[in-house]
Amino acid sequence: MENLPAEPALRDTREITKALNSLDILGFDISLDVATGNIVIDRVPLGDQDWTPEDWDLNSEKWSELEGEITDFNPGFRLMDRPKWLRSPTALLSEKKTKSSIMVAVQAKDWVKDQLTRNRPYLALFGERCSFRKYIRNDASTHCERCLQFGHHAAHCRLQARCKFCHETHHTKDHHCDVLYCTAGKGKPSSHTVRKCTSCEETSHFTGDRHCPTRTRARSPAIEPPRETTPPPAE
Ligand SMILES: [Zn+2]
Ligand SMILES: [Zn+2]
Ligand SMILES: [Zn+2]
Ligand SMILES: [Zn+2]
Repeated sequence: MENLPAEPALRDTREITKALNSLDILGFDISLDVATGNIVIDRVPLGDQDWTPEDWDLNSEKWSELEGEITDFNPGFRLMDRPKWLRSPTALLSEKKTKSSIMVAVQAKDWVKDQLTRNRPYLALFGERCSFRKYIRNDASTHCERCLQFGHHAAHCRLQARCKFCHETHHTKDHHCDVLYCTAGKGKPSSHTVRKCTSCEETSHFTGDRHCPTRTRARSPAIEPPRETTPPPAE
């Protein structure tokens, strides 16, 4: 079954996905028609009581079995990459865990998007229901769209909202321009909105822009897999 014509294309897709994910420009923003997104599946079995961290080495049977289980019993899921445990199997073993959470990039088919709008999305895994959720990146380089600061995602923000267009204390989506006869709609900038970034002080872009040098610098040490701080549901 080697050298199928589709294989190189599949490899490319995975590389492209990996590259896109490393830029962090894709998420499960269901208002956008995005191709892939990262999800977290909770309470995935690590194995019986006697499992070892080696069971989860990169190309282990365990991974193939788990991937097979996800895709065979959940036709809406198309994995774009190998899943990974959110915490190292060694640490999980030291806490005698037999279940934990994995993160995986999946194709954002309608089924997945639809599930994510529900209260408790779940999938079938080893004959049980496992809940899943959108992965929310939450590390030092995460830029918050609500308060315009680094270090957390807007979903976890407890700080005062700040507008990226005028820097006043309101949500960016509520921004409105005071210039007479201005045609810019609510929450939108116009050609006369002064571009000034609160992160780097430059006047070429708004705060949070992908081309912001401060934002780029915050991201560059992210060789380590992103840490997730949303607590999983109680086991
Ligand atoms: Zn914030
Ligand atoms: Zn404003
Ligand atoms: Zn205006
Ligand atoms: Zn900037």
